[in-house]
Amino acid sequence: MSYDDSNIFAKILRKEIPCNKIYEDDFVLSFHDINPQKKIHALVIPKGKYVDLDDFSSNATSEEIVGLIKGINIVAKKLCISTEVGKGYRALTNISDDGGQEVPHLHFHLFGGEKIGKMVE
Ligand code: AMP
Repeated sequence: MSYDDSNIFAKILRKEIPCNKIYEDDFVLSFHDINPQKKIHALVIPKGKYVDLDDFSSNATSEEIVGLIKGINIVAKKLCISTEVGKGYRALTNISDDGGQEVPHLHFHLFGGEKIGKMVE
């Protein structure tokens, strides 16, 4: 699947629509999910144009890959859900139709602030 510039996260990255921002650096943007499924539900997206994790793993630079993984940890610390403060959370990414992905720009969901429960319902 080729990258579709009209997806909602591309519009957020271009600042065409607003988001409830948590963190931003050269590699990632993080914001609160508009329809939270848990007490804390954040999204972390790479700034590059990647459809999903497979696209990212195949085509992103090493710098971008490190930037995204580090970005997840930075956001977890900012939200006080990381193991550094004795908490925990779930980081999850849906991949394509079978994985339940709706927005075709790679994003990690961070769920926390409470017990997250079963991995697959
Ligand atoms: P997925 O099903 O993994 O593609 O997840 C897409 C997520 O994006 C869902 O949890 C939506 O609630 C969330 N979402 C969609 N539009 C927005 C938006 N404008 N701002 C924040 N989150 C959004």
